[in-house]
Amino acid sequence: MSLTCPFPREMPSRTKLVATLGPASESDEMLAKLILAGVSVFRFNFSHGSLEEHAERLERVRAVAKQLQANVAVMGDLQGPKIRVGKVPPPGITLRTGQDVSIRRAVPEAFVADDGTAVFGTTYEQMIHEVRAGQRVLVNDGAIRMLAIEDAEAMARGELRCRVTVGGLVTSSKGINLPESDVRAPSLTERDEVCVRFAAEHGFDYLAISFVRTADDVRVLKRLLEDCGKGKGEDRIPVIAKIEKPQAVANIDEIAKTAHALMVARGDLGVEMDIAHTPIAQRLILEAAKRYGKPAIVATQMLESMIKSVMPTRAEASDVATAIFAGASAVMLSGETAVGRHPALVVETMRRIALEAEAFTIERDSVEPSLPAALDAPSRRQAALAHGAWHLARDLGVKAVACWSQTGGMARNLSRSSMAAPVLAYSSDFRWTRRMALLSNITPILAEPPSTGYLADWTDQVEADLMDFGWVDPGDHVLLIAGKPLGAPQTTSAIAVLEVGNRATGFRAHDR
Ligand code: PGA
Ligand code: MN
Repeated sequence: MSLTCPFPREMPSRTKLVATLGPASESDEMLAKLILAGVSVFRFNFSHGSLEEHAERLERVRAVAKQLQANVAVMGDLQGPKIRVGKVPPPGITLRTGQDVSIRRAVPEAFVADDGTAVFGTTYEQMIHEVRAGQRVLVNDGAIRMLAIEDAEAMARGELRCRVTVGGLVTSSKGINLPESDVRAPSLTERDEVCVRFAAEHGFDYLAISFVRTADDVRVLKRLLEDCGKGKGEDRIPVIAKIEKPQAVANIDEIAKTAHALMVARGDLGVEMDIAHTPIAQRLILEAAKRYGKPAIVATQMLESMIKSVMPTRAEASDVATAIFAGASAVMLSGETAVGRHPALVVETMRRIALEAEAFTIERDSVEPSLPAALDAPSRRQAALAHGAWHLARDLGVKAVACWSQTGGMARNLSRSSMAAPVLAYSSDFRWTRRMALLSNITPILAEPPSTGYLADWTDQVEADLMDFGWVDPGDHVLLIAGKPLGAPQTTSAIAVLEVGNRATGFRAHDR
């Protein structure tokens, strides 16, 4: 069997690039440009657009990826219990500092009452009872700020009264954040459930859940996916927990154990907590992901100024590199690719920053990985193999590592152990080669196991592929990691050292 080089394009970064789709990026031409520039995961933001539109976009992404023979994953991002202001008649209502605001049930349209109080409805009416006096009510990403005031009478009438501390213009559907309140909103709204079923039916590769507070929120989504037949085994859709509330940071260990991946969702995080603390939250989240061997995505405002500009700011370039130094598996673009002026240039810029940062760290900071925490028995075997492989790879100075990773487990472990050498991950299941597109330093290869089923024949295949790609020369060392039968999940059990061109090495001695 012969394969085309997995990079019919520029050198990809080890860190994976996630791009949010939107009007600026959904044409066939732009999708192709973005993939060629380095995107391997597309994010579908279910907060915007109809499901018909998402279905149509999905078809387009799949078609373009197929044409380019690229392993591209699609992530559905669920809005979750995002609270919003109700309808506000245009051009909006401008709140002044010191003004009183009343949030009430069943307000068809916001208005200003005769006594000057601005009256708003909300998409989550329970907030009227869950916000306590003195707690902050933030509107429009925190641009407009209010404090809840003590008013028992109003509360009895089903009304939450607030006083504006920083004014501004409020328009329809602006987001509300309640950083200090114990919000009991269900983890998934009715609309989210519809989106989950849609994503399950349409073969989305990942689902991200917003405003996670505890591991139970993640479990709710996992259970719903089980209902859809996508919760377990090879069919499962991995769940990404978006960490955007201080509560989630406080519960990060349980969440990291329960979710398949984490996202540092800095947009809401920066509203929900003191912005001065968000860099520390980012570190804590990335460390937890590393501790439990889970991929982690750093998201929001990474190259924000490039929505308009052709150059990022120095601070933005530094931010992307810093996320990589701190162990991000992937970095994400939001508005930059969804509505920005130069989506492909942004991706190209991000890839160049990533490549520089990676080249620097691989040489300097190759630290011995530790075994992830809280492993069950089969995962422990894989993690231990990856841990051992890291030492072998370093001691032999291997040029590449190849594993057979049918459902991505071995690939995830090798990814998180941060090998200096690139890792090829073989699977015959296209769903899992796509999902592996999120894992740093992993190049997924969609291939059938050799018809004989012999590891010896797979050794030949890997050697031929690596020679084809130009990654190795005769005499170079390569690590092979696999189990029998090839293509069955959870069988990985052996490591072999291949010396390219030497017939006595690799798994060649083992089968025949
Ligand atoms: P959002 O999530 O774009 O869906 O709000 C990301 C974030 O909050 O950073
Ligand atoms: Mn968010």
